[in-house]
Amino acid sequence: MATHDPDYLVIGAGAMGMAFVDVLLTETDATVVLVDRRSRPGGHWTDAYPFVRLHQPSSFYGVNSRPLGDDTIDLAGWNAGLYELASASEVCAYFDQVMNQRFLPSGRVSFFPSCDYGGDGSFTSTMTGAVHAVADGTRVVGATYMNVTVPATHPPRYEVDPEVRCVPINGLASIAEPPERYVIVGAGKTGMDACLWLLANDVDPDLITWITPRDSWVLDRANIQPGPDFAPVVIGSAASQMEVAAGAGSIDELFAGLEEAGVLLRIDRSVRPTMYRCATVTKAELDQLRRIENVVRLGRVRRIGATEIELDEGSIPTGPGVLHVDCSSDGLARRPVVPIFDGDRITLQTVRTCQQVFSAAFIAHIEAAYDDPDVKNRLCTVVPHPDTDVDWLRVTLASTLNAIQWRQDPGLTAWLNDARLDGFSRTGRYPTARNRSANGPVGDGADEVASSGGVLGATRRLLASSGPAVENLQALLSQAESRTSSG
Ligand SMILES: Cc1cc2nc3c(=O)[nH]c(=O)nc-3n(C[C@H](O)[C@H](O)[C@H](O)COP(=O)(O)OP(=O)(O)OC[C@H]3O[C@@H](n4cnc5c(N)ncnc54)[C@H](O)[C@@H]3O)c2cc1C
Repeated sequence: MATHDPDYLVIGAGAMGMAFVDVLLTETDATVVLVDRRSRPGGHWTDAYPFVRLHQPSSFYGVNSRPLGDDTIDLAGWNAGLYELASASEVCAYFDQVMNQRFLPSGRVSFFPSCDYGGDGSFTSTMTGAVHAVADGTRVVGATYMNVTVPATHPPRYEVDPEVRCVPINGLASIAEPPERYVIVGAGKTGMDACLWLLANDVDPDLITWITPRDSWVLDRANIQPGPDFAPVVIGSAASQMEVAAGAGSIDELFAGLEEAGVLLRIDRSVRPTMYRCATVTKAELDQLRRIENVVRLGRVRRIGATEIELDEGSIPTGPGVLHVDCSSDGLARRPVVPIFDGDRITLQTVRTCQQVFSAAFIAHIEAAYDDPDVKNRLCTVVPHPDTDVDWLRVTLASTLNAIQWRQDPGLTAWLNDARLDGFSRTGRYPTARNRSANGPVGDGADEVASSGGVLGATRRLLASSGPAVENLQALLSQAESRTSSG
């Protein structure tokens, strides 16, 4: 057995493990053994469907020390006017460069691809069977806890009869002959991506059936942009969110207000969404998704047979000419919260709503800069991945409370202001987009927010409403929770 004596053993070279190690390299002189059962860094991105892109701008994804993309505003497509979104191959190439041009040349990181971590500080090469172990006292960092699942690596969670044509979303990129119809199974962001890919390739929306067990509240990507051009919109939207949260008398009123303020969107305005998982789209994409009228709301698929799809609450016909596209894997599953810092163990989780890589970098900074484990855990209160509409309240509350306590610490505020992965605290300092002059500042409502006081006014509104929003969200949540426990 080969033994190693690093300061840290990091399990998982996905985006979170990479973002964590990057900050350790910058802020400490620690040595790291990094292990992944995959053959290269990048985690689930290495199995992603070829047409997937980041759901958020590249400008604040990846690792802190190295830019991803070149801060260009898209001029074509349904993201036009907003910051570029890296493709899966770009994300994979980026992580490859981070590994080969930064981690390995540092002499402080040893990478073990194709190795399975078995617990107790040991891991085994899937190619040679060689077993490795780290010395006692090594800090073990779990960068696998988010348990990302993608359709390419996880079979459908329903029965599929052998004669049925059913492919994961990746299969849409290699269709040899047009099917008679498409059935998309899954209402999450992957399902949306499948529908958008078909529509972008001129498939008639009437040939698409979309099985959506739950409708989803979605985020408007125009509100999730870095830089000064977008600051009035981004901060204005955050302020509106807090104002609505502060003033709503009930959960129904809250969601109505958030929709009216453009903070949350939904595809079908006649259906009240019960899901919220941070799916992010542009208004142009939303308009496209609304072209699909064959939307099936009969619960989850149980079985796809040769002539019929059985669902929880009924069935619909299908046939041999139909291509079924599985988009039902859970993406980021909801996991029980565990302490991030627990003795020699660090378990990477999210500390800002749906910002996994930022969270991993932030946790590494806390590890490097603070000693007291209670302080470290307090600063890193977990914001679990949301799933339901009521989770919107939970994650907004937890994220806001974290932000409030971070801002009370001047050192942490300085770190956040300098962090590339913090796309929001940098809205006032971000370099201007490369092709801004060609396109100008974009974003619905920018002029309106600017004329109603611009960034300064929006920031004042945000600061004034955050405290009342926290109080009201706590009250609304306890109402919702007591209703659930008594019902
Ligand atoms: C389609 C899609 C688009 C997304 N877009 C965005 C976005 O725009 N912005 C955003 O912030 N987030 C986005 N996300 C969320 C995304 O999941 C996170 O950004 C991030 O990639 C999660 O990385 P991870 O390291 O936690 O997980 P993973 O990518 O799953 O990495 C974990 C790694 O651990 C390894 N591993 C697991 N168990 C073991 C073991 N026992 N031994 C060895 N290795 C092991 C796995 O092989 C894997 O490589 C998206 C997710 C999906 C599915």
